[in-house]
Amino acid sequence: MPDYLMMERSALQAEQVRLRQAYDDFAQKGLKLDMSRGKPAANQLDLSMPLLAMPDCLDRDGTDLRNYGALEGTNEVREYFAELLGAESGETIAGGSSSLNLMYNMIDLGWRKGFSGCAPWGKQGRVKFLCPSPGYDRHFRITEDFGFELVEVPMTPDGPDMDAVERLVRDETVKGIWCIPVYSNPDGYVYSAETVERLAAMKAAPDFRVFWDNAYLVHHLTDEACTCPNLLAACKGAGNPQRVLMFCSTSKITFAGAGVCAMAADAANIEAARKYLFAMTICFDKVNQLRHVRFLRKEGLAAHMQKHAALIAPKFNVVLKGFEEELLPCGGIATWTKPKGGYFISLNVLDGCAARVVALCKQAGVVLTGAGAAFPYGCDARDRHIRIAPTYPSLEELQAATQLLCLCVRLAAMEKLLA
Ligand code: PLP
Repeated sequence: MPDYLMMERSALQAEQVRLRQAYDDFAQKGLKLDMSRGKPAANQLDLSMPLLAMPDCLDRDGTDLRNYGALEGTNEVREYFAELLGAESGETIAGGSSSLNLMYNMIDLGWRKGFSGCAPWGKQGRVKFLCPSPGYDRHFRITEDFGFELVEVPMTPDGPDMDAVERLVRDETVKGIWCIPVYSNPDGYVYSAETVERLAAMKAAPDFRVFWDNAYLVHHLTDEACTCPNLLAACKGAGNPQRVLMFCSTSKITFAGAGVCAMAADAANIEAARKYLFAMTICFDKVNQLRHVRFLRKEGLAAHMQKHAALIAPKFNVVLKGFEEELLPCGGIATWTKPKGGYFISLNVLDGCAARVVALCKQAGVVLTGAGAAFPYGCDARDRHIRIAPTYPSLEELQAATQLLCLCVRLAAMEKLLA
């Protein structure tokens, strides 16, 4: 296969005719596939079905969990999530079924009540939030919805570009940053120890908060279990204990949207969160919390996650192999990440081509995440990033979708080179 960037115009034109024919043939196949969200496949959800048959309603202290009470979760449950997040159980709150919901609540707390004795964010005039990009669209959406100005920060394989972050946070109207430290969505990057140290120690506004979303902390795809140092411990060490709010959930461990989420932070933040939640609810679903903890303890979390990996690692491999066979030989028309965990692959195509690739795929029956979705305001200034979510489709569907995607990347590149 020729390197597109080295080809003569006439050869490019001939290749374009060939690609167009292959694309039309594909469109005839009537594929119908939605790869727009990172969802577990049904066979992954099946792994946790025994959970639903668990009758456990009494926690180890004998408390009847079918009744009101224990807003922060019972000790048994808090201890489990504290261990997972790397905090004390008194620094941990077990919540409902969505960590995103809890993050929204904490942004709302900052917005309406304020953190660290400062005025509420919503009363401070123009306020900004840092968005390492590409990142998680639903994070950005929360802060956009409240009225923050979203500030894009480039992602690197070690985490957000810390030179940029340190420069930006000198401005005290910058109130926080979204972080996905392990197997980031969508690049699959793992923050380095240096990034963690710098986030903990940098000079920032007293009510600046790192939203540390550890959604994929145990979601390894290989035998290498990548980890990232504990930001809460680093913040305490640096004399900024209130800087971080850490989150996780079992959405991609057990059931997406029907699992359990948790948050950990220093005592002052936990007390502020508790007061906030007290006004919002009497308690979360403690029956679901307890059966989750007991199921995962019985299974062994690592063993359970290996079962997930056995189902989804082959899917990542199908996509990556497809890219290597169909895109690599075409020269520099695309680059992609090779994650060791998490739920996504980032594909970068030639500048100005991402929206075209997504549109071509859609016309032929494969819906991808919208181009630009992983950037603040849904706007990728270079129009080059596409988020690939390989977990939900079957291996066969994924094979076909990857072939089509590669074809569309090549067609879009060809259109650009011939324009
Ligand atoms: N955080 C990240 C980084 C995610 O990718 C997702 C889902 O894709 C979520 C949070 C959603 O988590 P939850 O289901 O706990 O709200």
